[in-house]
Amino acid sequence: MKGLTLFLLFVLGVLSFSITPISIQLGDVSAYYAQEYLCLFDEVSDFTEAEIALITDSDTISVLRSKSLNFAESVRLIGLEVPKIIDSSDPDGSLSNTASDFAREVLVDKKILLSYDSDPVDEFGRILAYVWIPVEYQGETRYILFNLLAIINGYGNACTTCAFDESYMTIFAEAETLARDNSLCIWGEDSSVVEAQREGSAPTYDPIVYITDTGTKYHRDGCRYLSESVVAIRLSEAIRRGYEPCSVCKP
Ligand SMILES: [Zn+2]
Repeated sequence: MKGLTLFLLFVLGVLSFSITPISIQLGDVSAYYAQEYLCLFDEVSDFTEAEIALITDSDTISVLRSKSLNFAESVRLIGLEVPKIIDSSDPDGSLSNTASDFAREVLVDKKILLSYDSDPVDEFGRILAYVWIPVEYQGETRYILFNLLAIINGYGNACTTCAFDESYMTIFAEAETLARDNSLCIWGEDSSVVEAQREGSAPTYDPIVYITDTGTKYHRDGCRYLSESVVAIRLSEAIRRGYEPCSVCKP
């Protein structure tokens, strides 16, 4: 009898492997989510309440965590990667902007919950987190995973080079397949641009440089113009965000 039960569980597991998309309403935005993962948050035991302070980028946000002092902290969304589009046919990075716009529309003014993986911070000192946002679905408030939401709707791909919880990796990969199959956003008509960008040669010289919250220049480590608010980022990212080289330390 036990063997039969296990077999039936296995069959059900296989049958329910792929994602069943459902439509959810997030303010003015309607988006896809996965029926199967509506209750994913129920498995999370440790989380922090936070408020969105700023959407820096589609995969990076600033938050105020209620358990921390009253200052904004930078959060990198685990497992979500947003292709940076800098291409002659897409000079404004419009696909990235679309992703940022989506993040802004969905996240701004939300009280969110953050949960964490084994690595608390990334190489730039940003908090690594899963971001949960409240939605009303069929008369109930549920917390859905924004990292997953962005991938399902084609605003980013599942990161294949970062290590994170294996069960989430599987879910994110499924979500990416769904978005690709439906040609959503980055997988749509401009996807050749994205593929070319991702497969193209990576910049050979892309060191870590340093910026500050208020400055417009990027610096070498130890430059006297770096204040306490120093943030480490890649050179390519500093240039993309419009920072210019410091004339003193000549990075
Ligand atoms: Zn400098």
